[in-house]
Amino acid sequence: MRIAVLAVQGAFEEHEKVLWELGAETVQLRKASDLQEHFDGLILPGGESTVQGKLLRELSMLQSIRAKIKEGLPVLATCAGLILLAEHIAGEETVHIGTLPVAVKRNAYGRQLGSFHYADGYFRGIGALPMEFIRAPYVESVSDGVEILASVEGRIVGVQYGKQLAVAFHPELTGDYRIHQYFLGQI
Ligand code: GLN
Repeated sequence: MRIAVLAVQGAFEEHEKVLWELGAETVQLRKASDLQEHFDGLILPGGESTVQGKLLRELSMLQSIRAKIKEGLPVLATCAGLILLAEHIAGEETVHIGTLPVAVKRNAYGRQLGSFHYADGYFRGIGALPMEFIRAPYVESVSDGVEILASVEGRIVGVQYGKQLAVAFHPELTGDYRIHQYFLGQI
């Protein structure tokens, strides 16, 4: 299995390492021509969504990625990736890929959660799961057809819509590979 990892900014190398551990091949997406490669799934890593969105536009990659996801390409989005996928970002006009019918709130955790936050959450279909949040977004609301897979402290942090799986936390940082396994299992 060959998985593309968006590699314009952010924590893409960590995802590649997890995928290699699980026996998948990876291809980095750095420029538009990389999208011609064959791949069976796509990972949108954490980082800074405003920077990633700007680079995707400048590199003319945004529309092709959006089209592939609409055609059914399986995608795992984490943290900033979730923001890129969301159809609506609270308080902002910008929409990036916009294929996931949810509204997200960026950097929304108050003092009680802080910038970095660790939680033991429950993920539907997986069970108890360590979750690492870094200036994380959360999902404020979902449209029909979006399944809620995880909530932490009353906030939605994991959703699925068809082949789009999106989480607010960083599954590549905890040494627990079950989110990646779950994703690969759905391809
Ligand atoms: N705060 C970042 C953003 O708004 C996301 C943080 C992350 O990916 N860890 O894009």
